[in-house]
Amino acid sequence: NKLIQVENLTKKYDEKTIAVKDISFSVDEGSVVAIIGRSGSGKSTLLQMLGLLDYPTEGVIHLDHQDVSHFNDVKRALYRRTKIGIIYQNFNLLPEYSIKDNICLPLLLDKKKVDMNYFNELVNLLGLNELLAKQPYQLSGGEQQRVAIARAFIIKPMLILADEPTGNLDKINGDKVIELILNTAKVFNTTVIYVTHDIVLAKCADVVMEMSDGQLI
Ligand code: ADP
Ligand code: ADP
Repeated sequence: NKLIQVENLTKKYDEKTIAVKDISFSVDEGSVVAIIGRSGSGKSTLLQMLGLLDYPTEGVIHLDHQDVSHFNDVKRALYRRTKIGIIYQNFNLLPEYSIKDNICLPLLLDKKKVDMNYFNELVNLLGLNELLAKQPYQLSGGEQQRVAIARAFIIKPMLILADEPTGNLDKINGDKVIELILNTAKVFNTTVIYVTHDIVLAKCADVVMEMSDGQLI
């Protein structure tokens, strides 16, 4: 099953800045894709369009056989909140909340119940058991990113998008974070797309896509 089908995708920020140029590709459900390429090659822009955070200028994105490229803002937000987990470079945890609440936040915001069996399984997989009552400032960078991974997975997403999730971590913690994202995704058969500068980390993926000057090469 093709979870993602992208056809002739283009993003122009202005007449001079064409960040993504006529890209087409597809991604199988349950597979892991790494995107590499120099700074400015269009990786973040592509990821933002796949995460329905930005509109394409031209082209079509099908997610799970649905054309999402023409969704309005309300539909996009709802789709994202229920189906796509996003992991950022700088963990973006809420400082006033416990780790447990940070993990459950996407569900709490939608007034949805937390599936405690699933929550416990996630927390175990990510080694967060001892940290649940703490607050973000008490955690190391690697631990904070593990919390952000749990928060991304708590909605049972069909797709995980990670934009340089290791960018603020040292090598050991960075390797561990990729390993944990991919291991968690495997357990729940979740499709993953991650951006990295690290060619060694890219090789953990089933497919590596390289971008250069807005195109796939
Ligand atoms: P990276 O190279 O790590 O992917 P960037 O520095 O290119 O990150 O981008 C960081 C953020 O700034 C992104 O949200 C991106 O959309 C935004 N950004 C990048 N370039 C510009 C620009 N020329 N004008 C406005 N926003 C930009
Ligand atoms: P990467 O993630 O590979 O570093 P980006 O997608 O962030 O690449 O950027 C691709 C190109 O688009 C760059 O030239 C960048 O300056 C430009 N760009 C990114 N975001 C914006 C934005 N919000 N407004 C204008 N230009 C942007």
